[in-house]
Amino acid sequence: MASLGEVAEWRLSASSKSHLWAMFGFTSQIPHLPTSPFAIRGTIPAPCSPNLHPPRVQQAPSVVSTPTPPPPPPPRPYPMPSIYLETFGCQMNELDSELVMGSLKAVGYAFTADRERADVVLYNTCSVRERAEQKVWSRLGQDRLRKLDRPEIVVGVLGCMAERDGEDLIKRMPVVDILCGPGELDKLPGLLDNAVRTRSMTGGFATDTNLTRPTVMTSARQVALQGNTSRRSATLAAAEDTLELLDLSRAVSPEDHGMTRSAYVRITRGCNKFCTYCVVPFTRGAEVHRPPRHIIDECKRLAQSGVVEITLLGQTVNHYRFEHGSSVTIGGVMQPQKGRSYKGGHTRDPFAGAQTTTFADLLAQIHDEVPSIQRLRFVTSYPRDFGDDVLEVMRDHPRICRYLHVPAQSGSNRILSMMNRGYTVEEYLDFLDRARSFLHQPQIGRPLTIAGDIIVGFPTETDEDFALTIGLLEQARYKNCFIFKYSPRPGTIAFDKIADDVPEEVKRRRNNKLLAVQNTISAAVSRDFIGTTMGVFIEGLSERELKKRRPERTGLIGLTISAKRPDDAKPTSTDGDACCAGACEDDSHTLTTMAIEPVATAVQLSGRTEGDVIVHVDAPPGIAPESMIGQVVQIRITDCRPLSLIGEVVEPVSLTTTH
Ligand code: SAM
Ligand code: SF4
Repeated sequence: MASLGEVAEWRLSASSKSHLWAMFGFTSQIPHLPTSPFAIRGTIPAPCSPNLHPPRVQQAPSVVSTPTPPPPPPPRPYPMPSIYLETFGCQMNELDSELVMGSLKAVGYAFTADRERADVVLYNTCSVRERAEQKVWSRLGQDRLRKLDRPEIVVGVLGCMAERDGEDLIKRMPVVDILCGPGELDKLPGLLDNAVRTRSMTGGFATDTNLTRPTVMTSARQVALQGNTSRRSATLAAAEDTLELLDLSRAVSPEDHGMTRSAYVRITRGCNKFCTYCVVPFTRGAEVHRPPRHIIDECKRLAQSGVVEITLLGQTVNHYRFEHGSSVTIGGVMQPQKGRSYKGGHTRDPFAGAQTTTFADLLAQIHDEVPSIQRLRFVTSYPRDFGDDVLEVMRDHPRICRYLHVPAQSGSNRILSMMNRGYTVEEYLDFLDRARSFLHQPQIGRPLTIAGDIIVGFPTETDEDFALTIGLLEQARYKNCFIFKYSPRPGTIAFDKIADDVPEEVKRRRNNKLLAVQNTISAAVSRDFIGTTMGVFIEGLSERELKKRRPERTGLIGLTISAKRPDDAKPTSTDGDACCAGACEDDSHTLTTMAIEPVATAVQLSGRTEGDVIVHVDAPPGIAPESMIGQVVQIRITDCRPLSLIGEVVEPVSLTTTH
């Protein structure tokens, strides 16, 4: 029986090994996975290991074959457990959860939205602010009590908290069976398989039911962490990047994105910026860029499954670049490439050329090669080194959204310097002017909208610094802004070197003040849209319409139209403690592909402008509302609400008429 602190061996049965690698399209030679030790620091030798296949340099363009579909999972000696997966934090975590779900479903696991009944509970965690971590600690506390009744449940902590806290997390919460950092998520099926097998081999766990001293015996612990002190070298990052296989093996099906028709695609991972307050470079490791062919093929597969809106993800997305002359291919898979370090300050990618895919090139290629993607977005942009080449491509390619999420963090140059952001307020505002001069064209229905992030209460921030931040907001005129109270994060430079000397009460006051300022600005930005005509991508019934149609509220309509995906296995997402002023990316919106039962009054639909502003519109008389869903419809804006716009259809082209 495994006991607390006991070290188990990393063992996969031959069948599960072959199955895992078959999932990634490696069907021929199945290499040996290690049999010990279980604690994986760095990455395990894998089929891509340089020992097995010497690296070879491949010239552009790369050719990658879509991984072959996985064979049916082999029979298991135990019933397949059901998994509850909860996601905390950013879009990158949401995407990680989606990929993890796909990889676990492919080996036969089922998902449930019912944490109480689940056999496996997984938390995909965020460490960016303390509050997001506190939520996970509280969930784990509940799991510890639950495990007294159900000792067989397996608990896993994935993502940034696992990487940041490492095995200290298990010491504090022995209920945890699996720790898997964001750089090791490709190994989760194997880790879970081992946790479940050791659990079934030991036949459950001894439990001390004395609640004053609960000791829950767990299955043999499974740990896969990158090790936050070892940022990989460029060669190692390329040679060992089995994580790329997780993205490459993404399960794409109409059911996954059927209701939202919107998907994230990762283009870079990690971060090299080391802003002094931020844990991301430590938890997600060095910045690496995925091969463009992998990204474009993923977009194509998503488009084929019905996705019409893609958001490209990266911490500093505009710094994407892939230099083909130095790319490495291992085991038939081109490897991601570490970002170059260079002195910034340019307004065009200095490495552009035939052998390089710059961010501007990538955007243009996705736009041109995947024409059924109606909306192409990207987050998050870094204010420095945002090239005119990118702005030109955005201007000249109609399906690239004129929307930028470009955090400033502070309006004080002194604070920006302490944050190690690498730009001044003046440079930031110059960038916004430059972006607007290229892209802000309300007269043709294509305004540029901009969203920001601000941290209030960074150490030593004075009232004068804060007043400068208010000034920045007034000049930036964001559509919306995420405002965060500074949260000292152990391991970061600010935590180690600068006392958190702004009292909580002052942080709270500044936070509220900025929210109020931004709300006023957001309302003014919305008012500016009145009278303009914009393309609005119609996503589904508005919240108001849904309420109207809920049978329990009206008693009139029997058809249930749900804002949620029918698949109750969708991972739930719990944001951290960000306050967003103005209409923001996280606002709920609705979509349905179901037939909409006619009602006497006009049916109100909701959609978004390319600038991510929510618009409500009534389906015109004689037009079937469902025929508008999933289309970009020209809408004249007639009014505005605090978080949305109201409009009317001006061009009901190609919409189905009702009879
Ligand atoms: N890479 C993006 C950038 O730098 O623009 C942002 C990514 S970060 C995960 C998201 C936001 O969290 C940041 O823009 C910042 O405002 C906020 N954030 C990060 N660390 C924080 C901390 N220690 N306390 C408060 N907010 C923080
Ligand atoms: Fe964190 Fe700065 Fe990197 Fe953004 S750019 S992820 S804030 S270190």
